[in-house]
Amino acid sequence: MIFRLAVLGASLVSFLLTYYKQKKHEEKMVELQQQQHKVEDDVWYKFIFITNENSGCTEHLRQEESCGDKCSHNYLQTIRQHVRSAKASISLCIYHVTLATILQELTEAHSRQIVVRVISDREMDYHHASITKKLKEKGIALKIQPDTQTFMHHKFLLIDENTDDKEVWFGSLNLTAQALTTNCENMMYTNNASMVSDFSKCFEMLWESFSDL
Ligand SMILES: [Zn+2]
Repeated sequence: MIFRLAVLGASLVSFLLTYYKQKKHEEKMVELQQQQHKVEDDVWYKFIFITNENSGCTEHLRQEESCGDKCSHNYLQTIRQHVRSAKASISLCIYHVTLATILQELTEAHSRQIVVRVISDREMDYHHASITKKLKEKGIALKIQPDTQTFMHHKFLLIDENTDDKEVWFGSLNLTAQALTTNCENMMYTNNASMVSDFSKCFEMLWESFSDL
């Protein structure tokens, strides 16, 4: 009897510890999600974190409705708004992109005479859901890495990189519904000039070395 009580007590302590750690983890994720700080007056950073809480947002993406600030639909809307705000150029370097709304935003930007360039991966270019071929059909400049043995695994987006309104988005997030709702992902966006410059150099280097599709 005493042995059974000891086992029960140990199990209860273990459960409470796990629960406490999970709560602390969730609070930290909320804190990180809300994090937006200025290190200088005119330099900002913001983070997006896709967590297990976004697993219910698949329908929200499809129906274009929001379940709150941390909804995947809100994150996609934010990305779309920034793309829509471009005044001069959009340079997207992405392993996998399938979202029809991104196709729409890039096509509309191209129609507004914004210089739109996209770099993607060869294997993903063959993926049935990829929008890369549709981008090409719309007249958007597209380059695919020639190497079949390695991946073009970058995920970053430059907006107006040569103007005062420059910004860069980067992280683990592919522009797919799965990445926005099912995976654990991160993305940061910032107008930090040094970061924009470094990513811009990377984009130009890849653009020069990769072939036209
Ligand atoms: Zn949602």
